[in-house]
Formats: sequence, C-alpha cells, structure tokens
Amino acid sequence: MSMPTVAVVGGSIAGLTAANVLRDIGCNVNVYERTPQPLSGFGTGIVVQPELVRYLLERTDGTLDDVSVPSSAMHYYDATTAHLRGQVDASWRFTAYNAIYQKLLDAFGSERYHLGHALTRLTDESGKTRCQFADGSSVTADLIVCADGGGSVARSQLLGVQTEYAGYLTWRGMVDHNDVSEATWEFFSDAFTYGLLPDSHLIAYPIPQVTAEGRLTGRPRLNFQWYWNVPAGPELDTLMTDSSGHRRPVSVRYTDLAAETLQELRGRARAQLSGPFRELIERVPEPFLTSVTDAQVDTMAVGNVALIGDAAFTPRPHAAAGAAKAADDAWRLADHLTEADGDVAAALRAWEPERLAVGRAYLAKVQAMGQALQHGGDFPPGASRFRFGLPDVSRAGL
Ligand code: FAD
Repeated sequence: MSMPTVAVVGGSIAGLTAANVLRDIGCNVNVYERTPQPLSGFGTGIVVQPELVRYLLERTDGTLDDVSVPSSAMHYYDATTAHLRGQVDASWRFTAYNAIYQKLLDAFGSERYHLGHALTRLTDESGKTRCQFADGSSVTADLIVCADGGGSVARSQLLGVQTEYAGYLTWRGMVDHNDVSEATWEFFSDAFTYGLLPDSHLIAYPIPQVTAEGRLTGRPRLNFQWYWNVPAGPELDTLMTDSSGHRRPVSVRYTDLAAETLQELRGRARAQLSGPFRELIERVPEPFLTSVTDAQVDTMAVGNVALIGDAAFTPRPHAAAGAAKAADDAWRLADHLTEADGDVAAALRAWEPERLAVGRAYLAKVQAMGQALQHGGDFPPGASRFRFGLPDVSRAGL
C-alpha cells in the first residue's frame, strides 16, 4: 500500500513534528497554519524533554547546544522569605519556543507550509474529510492531522470539547541580565527555581535568546511564571480585560495590559515576595498574562482525522512536557502508519488507545502538581512523582 496524503492543520510543535515525521515515511504532506506570519511564541521558555528534541537530534545535524542552555540544579525556596527549603542536582536544559519552531520549520521547508489558513470547519465528503478555511479555500487528504492547539476548532466540532479554566492564571515574562542586579541574576541563572507560597508559586529558569532565524545569540535570559489563584467570574474578567476594554480569552500581552492590572502585579510582588523573587517581578520589563486551562478527551481519532498535541489533551504546564507530548503523538502516528503499511484506519486504531493512555496519565500528573502547588499541598524537593516529563505509559503496550 502506498503512503497516504496528509493535511496537517496547525503548524506549531505538534503540527510541524507530524509534518516532518510523516514526510519522512513517504507521505505527501501539506501544513495549514492560521497565522499570517511565522510563529514566535513570544520567545517563551520550554524545558527540554527527549521527545521535544528528538527530530532535531535524530534527523538533522542539530545539537542540544544549538537550541538550549544547561543548568545544574533545582532549587526550592520559600518566596515570602527567600529561604532555601531544599535543592537537588538536576541537569535540565532549557530552550525557547522559537528555537524549536524554527528548527522544525527549517527541516520541513516553507514550500508546503501554508500560512494564513485558519480552519473553520471539517466536512464529510463521501467518507473523506475536507478542511474548510476562513479564506474560502478547502483541502482534503487521506489523513487529516489536527494540531490546532488548545483552542482547537477540530476538537470543538468533532467532540464538543473545549478547554476548562483551571482556577488560576499565570504571569509570564523574561528578564535580561541588565534588567536585574548581579546578585539576582546569579541567584536564578544556573537552576530551575521554585518560589513556593502558601497558595501560589513562581518558577524561574534561564532560556537562550534566539534570532529571528532561530540561532542562539547573546547571553541567556531568565524566564519566569507566577501563578495566581483567581476564581472564575468578575475578578478573573477584570484581570483578563485589556486596556481597551476587551475581555481576552487566553492571554493579555504586555502592550494590551490595563494599567491597574500591571499595578496589581507590582503591588503583590512588594506585599508577598522578598529578595530576588520580588526584584524579578518588580523589574520584568514586559510581563504578560495567560489563563491556565485543561482539556480532556475520550477520542483522538474520528474517521480519517487524528487530533494531536494540545488539540487533543490540553495539559496545564507544571510537568513541562506538553510540547513533548505533542511531538510524541506525532512520532507514534508515523510509527503506526509504517507498521500498518500506510493503512490510515488500521494505524489510527492502534495509535489512539496508546495516546489516550499517555494523555490521561499526563493530565492526571499535572493536575496533581497544580493541586499541590496552588492549594498548599505537599511539594517535597526532588519528589519523583513530580519530576518533569511524560509518564512512562507510552511504551507499555497499551
Ligand atoms: P500549539 O503550540 O498551541 O499550536 C497550535 C497551532 O495551531 C498554532 O500555530 C496556531 O496558530 C494554530 N491554529 C490554531 N487554530 C487554528 C486553526 N483554526 N486553523 C489553523 N491553525 C490553527 N510545554 C513543554 O513541553 N514545556 C514547557 O516548559 C511548557 N511550558 C508552558 C508554559 C505555559 C504557560 C503554557 C500555557 C504552556 C506550556 N507548555 C510547555 C505547553 C506547550 O506550550 C504546549 O503543550 C505545546 O505548545 C503544544 O503544541 P501544539 O502544537 O499541540 O499546540
């Protein structure tokens, strides 16, 4: 049997990994991405997991040093006092979204990467799915891979599943060496740091600076997040409302933040944090807000459509492997298509239960971490159940 034609919807980590690995096994692949320009992901940080960089290391001449910076420890502080609660040796590496994106895009090429294609609807055409785009165009293929992220149009239409608010939002931002004192820079620069609070937490870690072409440049920066419990309703709506009065669904960029919201961030930093934690938040030049959400599915394959990455399970970020899960969904799809000799239905039948098991286990893990970190639970330094990464169910023959 010949390999199927493939339309990939969404051209981020999941979509581009799928495009590359499916092209490599002989599929004719096109990618349809909503945004009119290549993605930047605001340059935010990602903890490197093996699955995330597998394509780079196995199929290109890229190295870890091309995309990431190392660290040697995990530090657990009380962020109210800046007292160390514990530390463990850990050699995590950190990358920036656009470094990974650019490497995957370089590997796939831009010829079959179609920007400005926002999926609006999937329709059935004699058993074959057709993707309808906002500009009026449409495509069909033997296999449709929907990698359109947490707000997936495909998941919403096929399964009626949307993300649910997790009960907290996160402030995010990046700090350059010159933005903070030398002491604060040194405090954060060689570790993944937790700043623990009774009902909240911060994380900070170094990430590389990346050029528009995806090359590392200059000194690393510090990437941070500070999670706030905010009940759904008026309080959340106020924070997520931008300076022109629009309630944003997912993120409020720095340039759109209402002045009072920014004041609240700086005010809370002064009231609740001390030492380097306070300085980091007070000095961050362009903080922005993202509401934290999850989505769970019971189905990842409908007809000849596969939902992968955040378009299937959307996990909150605490185990730092959402992008790794997305990439792994893609690799395993290619494995199953190869084993099924290009038979899409047979491949999806084998792939789906395996990936549902990974998605369920990973979501349960990050929800447990969120419970511990945001609601005063036990979060012991170095606890193996809270170690970053995917749970080990993917190769268990499920
Ligand atoms: P996305 O990256 O969301 O990409 C979806 C793509 O589809 C986008 O390019 C979008 O423009 C496109 N699209 C959307 N709708 C349409 C449409 N209708 N038509 C066509 N295209 C469309 N993961 C980690 O592994 N490590 C971390 O350290 C980490 N930290 C995180 C921190 C935060 C605060 C958050 C929110 C997430 C974090 N994640 C992390 C998770 C990670 O970002 C996601 O799991 C990962 O990006 C999922 O990749 P994806 O390709 O499935 O979806």
